[in-house]
Amino acid sequence: MFDLILRRARLTNERLVDIALQEGKIAAVADSLPGEAKRERDLAGRCYVSAGWIDSHVHCYPKSPIYHDEADAIGVATGVTTVIDAGSTGADHIDDFYAITRAATTQVYALINIARTGIVTQNELADMRQIDGDAVAGAVARLPDFIVGLKARMSSSVVGENGIQPLIKAKAIQQRVGGLPLMVHIGNNPPDLAEIADRLTAGDIITHCFNGKPNRVLTPQGELKASVRNAIARGVKMDVGHGSASFSFEVARVAIAQGILPDTISSDIYCRNRLNGPVHSLAHVMSKFLSVGMTLPQVIDCVTWKAAEGLRLTRKGRLEVGYDGDLTLFSLTDTPRLFVDSEGEQLTGEKHLTPLAAVVAGEWFLTEEGKANVFDL
Ligand SMILES: [Zn+2]
Repeated sequence: MFDLILRRARLTNERLVDIALQEGKIAAVADSLPGEAKRERDLAGRCYVSAGWIDSHVHCYPKSPIYHDEADAIGVATGVTTVIDAGSTGADHIDDFYAITRAATTQVYALINIARTGIVTQNELADMRQIDGDAVAGAVARLPDFIVGLKARMSSSVVGENGIQPLIKAKAIQQRVGGLPLMVHIGNNPPDLAEIADRLTAGDIITHCFNGKPNRVLTPQGELKASVRNAIARGVKMDVGHGSASFSFEVARVAIAQGILPDTISSDIYCRNRLNGPVHSLAHVMSKFLSVGMTLPQVIDCVTWKAAEGLRLTRKGRLEVGYDGDLTLFSLTDTPRLFVDSEGEQLTGEKHLTPLAAVVAGEWFLTEEGKANVFDL
């Protein structure tokens, strides 16, 4: 007997399927499943179901003086089953962060900041002595199932006078830790974007890929910069990392119109941009992409299997037998809604996504919208 069967769940290709979970894993997916379960819910095609949403770039170390939040406030409460903290902590605090997150329902992973202090100040890479390869390697050895990659913030306010040097060190540390993915934040120069992009290799991730700063991925003529095009051709991934200051509708629109889609849509959320905007939630960020040229299946791919592949979460991201029993239930609503980017540009979106419930390793959680929903979940 299965633990849970969801009947007539609507996939993003509009097909209706039955999904069975057993012992925290996906046990069966079929047009119509025979058999019984301890619990059954008939969705009757009224909402969508995807693999659990994965937010590839968040900040949820509650003790961070600048970018703090609670994992469940940005996770299951908004339909997100897995979050990856992007460098809030370095080697000095990551064990504490790991211990805290064991109490969360949301599944939390971390990219370790190459600066041992993490983001305690805004300029953690301005002092090269903070970049300690031994400390990073030690942390990865202690927490191999928690640390899924490295983070380096390569913009002028973070690196100070050090230019490209922190990235050169990050790439050397990456070699020491078995080639884990390196997420590189881009923003104001120096260093120039080309200097950064030229050093990245397959599997590295550029976050804040659609930022509206002068050092953006597009030329003034609106073409993708050659260094970025070459990096993508080498296998470098593009992550949104919306954040308070790093997402421009204009850049996204122009890039997507040229077929330059993000690999992952992430929020860069923490308490302040969650409560005050412009981020609010991963669903809110995903909804914006429905208004700048992406389809629903494309958007969902960016928070499911593409996010899992980018961070090597090999048991997540797909609604297939044997994968983790993580699901997100959501609706797509046609009522117009105002969206604002990090540059203050406003647009009225025709559609938006509303998360209704999350299933984490087989356990069921309703969001506030799910509790208020007209049909009984
Ligand atoms: Zn961030």
